[in-house]
Amino acid sequence: MEHSVSVKDLSLNFGAVNVLQSMNLDIAPGEFLVLLGPSGCGKSTLLNCIAGLLDVSDGQIFISGKNVTWEEPKDRGIGMVFQSYALYPQMSVRKNLSFGLQVAGFKKEEIDKRIARASEMLQIEPLLDRKPANLSGGQRQRVAIGRALVRDVDVFLFDEPLSNLDAKLRSDLRVEIKRLHQRLKNTMIYVTHDQIEAMTLADRIAIMKSGVIQQLDAPNVIYNKPVNLFVAGFIGSPS
Ligand code: ADP
Ligand code: MG
Repeated sequence: MEHSVSVKDLSLNFGAVNVLQSMNLDIAPGEFLVLLGPSGCGKSTLLNCIAGLLDVSDGQIFISGKNVTWEEPKDRGIGMVFQSYALYPQMSVRKNLSFGLQVAGFKKEEIDKRIARASEMLQIEPLLDRKPANLSGGQRQRVAIGRALVRDVDVFLFDEPLSNLDAKLRSDLRVEIKRLHQRLKNTMIYVTHDQIEAMTLADRIAIMKSGVIQQLDAPNVIYNKPVNLFVAGFIGSPS
């Protein structure tokens, strides 16, 4: 079976600093993969390389079998949700959702159809005519997820989307993201430093330390059979 996302011998240096070191990672279609690790270990850097927001220093990235290493972000077939909502403040929610599709040349009927579907899934229909300034943090993040959703792509990238929210909202939205994935069956790569988020969402977790994947396994395997002390300590398992 073709991988959904493949990272091959990927390295990234900022000046003399080697942030990602010859990384390899294969993600299956429909898989929910969580990148978990402490702050500064290179999670966002890896995600930004996959998204095309950073140029790699060495190696290759494939999405749905196609080498996208030097493709523009918009041509990679991905949708991305960031920690900060990155909504356009001057535009209504509806406009935030439609803007990218209009730029890409989609017809109005198609745009309306996609917005209706995404806003039903995320329960943001009542918010469509509001501006981001008049939304709560949780509502803004739903809109940000909606904006990735309307692009109708196979691969979603999330960079700590819940870390600005309070605990209750975080757990609510976690459940919704899981439900969304079960419904869409798309590929998700989800960055977090939160162990509980990783354990509840992931099909597999990649534990990173200093730009190197330490272990890549299902949550129960990571928990019960950590490969080293770093993984054991980070996950908080007994061994
Ligand atoms: P994480 O998302 O896991 O917290 P990052 O990928 O943001 O980590 O950062 C990994 C490392 O790369 C950190 O040591 C960080 O200081 C460094 N770094 C990130 N962005 C830059 C940049 N633009 N220039 C120089 N160093 C950077
Ligand atoms: Mg980060």
